[in-house]
Amino acid sequence: MSSSGEPSRKRPFIEIDKPSTVLCTVVAMDNKNLFYRVCSVCERTLPDNPGSSCSYCNFTNSFNPSNSSSRRLFRVLVSIATDTEILVVIMFDRAARVLFGCSADEFFHFAKIHPYASTTASKALEGEILTVTLSKPKNGNAQHLRVVSVIPMRSDFQPAIHTLRELYPP
Ligand SMILES: [Zn+2]
Repeated sequence: MSSSGEPSRKRPFIEIDKPSTVLCTVVAMDNKNLFYRVCSVCERTLPDNPGSSCSYCNFTNSFNPSNSSSRRLFRVLVSIATDTEILVVIMFDRAARVLFGCSADEFFHFAKIHPYASTTASKALEGEILTVTLSKPKNGNAQHLRVVSVIPMRSDFQPAIHTLRELYPP
């Protein structure tokens, strides 16, 4: 504590207050949990139970309950390596679409036909060099920095869905 410049002391990355942009490499991806469901009308997050529908819209649209349906959005935990450390960050739909190259629903339906699609996609993205902008979650309970934007750096980068379509032709 007393000595300054202790070599083992970590830069307090997690303390950032404004978004910061870093160059990083994708180390791994939690391919078991790529999505969450939202109400397609009001975009509220729905419970994981596939049968559940939006209680808010079901209530207000009670004259037409079938109107309330759900869609999937990406929410992916990714380990990235920066020049100083490895950290786990969370990537929501807009950022994840850049890497996957399709909507979460499209990916989900592709993965239903091709059961290894999620594993293959995350393998395909491992080692990718990205410039990411990280921001501190607004929700104080959230434990991971959030990726607000992502730019693939390799000139021949291709989104995961393209790799998958080559591997699993229709
Ligand atoms: Zn709703």
